[in-house]
Amino acid sequence: MRALILSDIHGNLEALNAVLEAAGSYDVLWNLGDVVGYGASPNETVERIRSLAQMNVRGNHDRVCCGLASAVGFNPVARAAAMWTQKEMSEVNRAWLAAVPQGPLHPEGFPGIVLAHGSPLNEDQYILTMRDAWGPLQQSGTLITFIGHTHLQGGFCQHSEEWHELHPRYETPNEVESWVLDLTQGTRYLINPGSVGQPRDHDWRAAFAIYDSEAESITFHRVPYDLTAAQGRILMAELPEKLALRLREGR
Ligand code: ZN
Repeated sequence: MRALILSDIHGNLEALNAVLEAAGSYDVLWNLGDVVGYGASPNETVERIRSLAQMNVRGNHDRVCCGLASAVGFNPVARAAAMWTQKEMSEVNRAWLAAVPQGPLHPEGFPGIVLAHGSPLNEDQYILTMRDAWGPLQQSGTLITFIGHTHLQGGFCQHSEEWHELHPRYETPNEVESWVLDLTQGTRYLINPGSVGQPRDHDWRAAFAIYDSEAESITFHRVPYDLTAAQGRILMAELPEKLALRLREGR
């Protein structure tokens, strides 16, 4: 079984389209949350994910954009984008988003796999460092926990006393690239596929991952997309300019 894992699409339709095209065939699609917020195509991204994903975890932006939570705690740019998204989304899409469950979720037919937005222990927690990863890895009875939220592709793993950070290695700034992680028996993993629509690891290309349960591997991918079109939509929608500019920087 091949699972396509997407996170933090953030209303970036151009990035989502490029990812779906590059992903090739897969058996299931898991969405780790934040389908909307920041980008200018919330309806289109929700509709594509609604029709394609078998499992969805809600993200903190999803929660605010569909009106389940207030934007208190969001910075002014994120708040402005969330308010715009809330108005822009159709009633059907808003209702769908509001019904997306909080993680952690356990996909059927994949024992040992957990899906979460932030941490499996707290949906709003950012797992940025080994210190952040410690608790979830220690307490998890699962083999692989897929997380999003930080918009940083990679992850952490633990095998008895050994701890490692995982950073995919790429060679070019603008091409389609992938990096394979072979999974080891007895190791527990926290894996972030990266952000489809607003990467923050200084790589502007859309990020995603594919988990292959037979090959026992996770392949991280980066794919260029029509950046100018995504930026143009943000500017035309009169969303904060910063949201268009940061896409080029990948941060
Ligand atoms: Zn996000």
